[in-house]
Amino acid sequence: MNNNIAEQLRIAHLQMAEHTTAAGKAAGSVQLIAVSKTRPAADIETAYQYGQRAFGENYPQELAEKASQLITLPQLEWHFIGPLQSNKTRLVAQNASWVHSIDRLKIAERLSAQRPAGLAPLKVLLQINISDEASKSGIAPADMLPLAQQVTQLPGLQLKGLMAIPAPLAEPAAQEHVFSSMQQLSEQLQQHYPQATELSMGMSDDWTIALRYGATMIRLGTAIFGRRNYHRNDSEHE
Ligand SMILES: *Cc1c(COP(=O)(O)O)cnc(C)c1O
Repeated sequence: MNNNIAEQLRIAHLQMAEHTTAAGKAAGSVQLIAVSKTRPAADIETAYQYGQRAFGENYPQELAEKASQLITLPQLEWHFIGPLQSNKTRLVAQNASWVHSIDRLKIAERLSAQRPAGLAPLKVLLQINISDEASKSGIAPADMLPLAQQVTQLPGLQLKGLMAIPAPLAEPAAQEHVFSSMQQLSEQLQQHYPQATELSMGMSDDWTIALRYGATMIRLGTAIFGRRNYHRNDSEHE
């Protein structure tokens, strides 16, 4: 089991280096976020031993528990990537270094106000609902610049870029179109906010496409830790 995590990490880094250079970027310029939701702290520790530092979590309570269990590991960096309700923002403001899923001013304001004074500002990405599905979170592309303008006024936050979870599409051309739209939005955002260079997109099934369209962070769960089972913390996982 533990050997698997080490091996999957090794393979992921080899494949990323290959696809990153194929996309014309320097190998190592794309960051791997290991999505550890539902995984025990021991799995995270294993990945950490093999050099992984950035971990993605979807549930505030689970993030807080793991952060306290693993508090002794220097440089371990938590990325909150799930939907966030306002009554849970404090757990995230206290424990995460990054939040990928900003989609409302109210959430951003709470995170900023609740960010502990001793910590660096929380690095945030605006989540774009790029596939335009009623059920998924994220803002419409037209709302990107207005929300960016508001977020940059908040002292506890630092705007770093965009995130998307494109719906799986059967047609490769349609899928590429969606990633390409995200790349264009990212360029548009950077014209106004040059520091907002990050583009978090690509998961275990579609990350190679995402890399071709400018992804700077890919979020891999299954590809690193294997298939999830949802028995842990069922109350928090709908
Ligand atoms: C679960 C999750 C991932 C990882 O998904 P895999 O398909 O297991 O790689 C990435 N991003 C978000 C937002 C997720 O919720």
